Amino acid sequence: MATIVHVDGLVATGAEPSVRGTAGASHPVIEVRSLHKAYGATIAVEDVSFGVGEGEIFGILGPNGAGKTTTVECMSGLRAPDGGAIGVLGLDPQRDRHAIRELVGVQLQEGSMPPKLTVRELVDLFASFYTDPADARELLELLGLTAKRDDYYKRLSGGQKQRLSIALALIGNPTVAILDELTTGLDPQARRETWSLIEGVRDRGVTIVLVTHFMDEAERLCDRVALIDSGRVIAIDTPAGLAEREGGGNHMRFHPSRSFDDSLLTALPEVDRLEHQGDRIVVSGNGDLLNAVISTLASAGSQAKDVQLESATLEDAFVRLTGHPSGTSKEDGKR
Ligand code: ATP
Repeated sequence: MATIVHVDGLVATGAEPSVRGTAGASHPVIEVRSLHKAYGATIAVEDVSFGVGEGEIFGILGPNGAGKTTTVECMSGLRAPDGGAIGVLGLDPQRDRHAIRELVGVQLQEGSMPPKLTVRELVDLFASFYTDPADARELLELLGLTAKRDDYYKRLSGGQKQRLSIALALIGNPTVAILDELTTGLDPQARRETWSLIEGVRDRGVTIVLVTHFMDEAERLCDRVALIDSGRVIAIDTPAGLAEREGGGNHMRFHPSRSFDDSLLTALPEVDRLEHQGDRIVVSGNGDLLNAVISTLASAGSQAKDVQLESATLEDAFVRLTGHPSGTSKEDGKR
């Protein structure tokens, strides 16, 4: 039966369980409602709804081909939706394309540039599109591109092209930045520097939408994430909330100092599952699992020894909800 599901203050209709998680954007600057987009017979986005609050870093996660890029392309006015509604800063990305360009900076996957323009020429060219651009020299310095400013685009490494695409997304001093695969191709240090840069941009009040395949990136940067699968939002929450709710709970492994009746622990509200692995016991659950187990064992005259505690991660939630590890595609899974 169709149900009405409240998402971020919007109302989306769909078959249960279309959306899990109710954490919402308090003051949405972006509203996507029942977005639908097909390329011929391929339905890229079936039904996507979410809201993004002012100053938020909002992540869009999902397996390859889930519809993430199509969603952000529709939000930035680069593609026309077939159905649904999008509002960005109160504007319609199709109808108000010119105004949107001034306010929204976009970094898209595999954006290719004229090969024989230098870094400096490209940044100056993009700056000329805006009435109040950022300081180009400062931005190149921030992104570690100062030494490359006179190099042709075609001479840049993959990571340098990636950093240039971030600079071009930010050169217009945008109010909203849409970043698709922000750190793909960057080495670990450059990734961490880019994360700090993005946090700095957010601290200046910019609202950021981030499409990413990296769960560590989402955990570090995103206030909330939407998980998209097969063109639908299947969960929206904070990374920690999603991990806790959908990640299969926390796991506590220990050796008991003396045997006890399993029902002592399985009766606890914090415990979902108990397993014997040889002489070791693994208890899975939520909340304050550690204290609940330790104090219950103590009351039965037993002690938990060699305790190991593992928290569920966003990656665990991603795998449980989509059936795929992050970073692999549905197609990979079918092979
Ligand atoms: P990825 O993580 O691989 O970038 P995605 O979640 O961003 O994937 P999209 O790029 O939006 O997904 O693609 C969604 C679906 O639409 C896929 O099946 C893709 O093959 C298809 N698709 C995307 N762009 C086009 C296009 N221009 N023409 C035809 N089909 C397309």
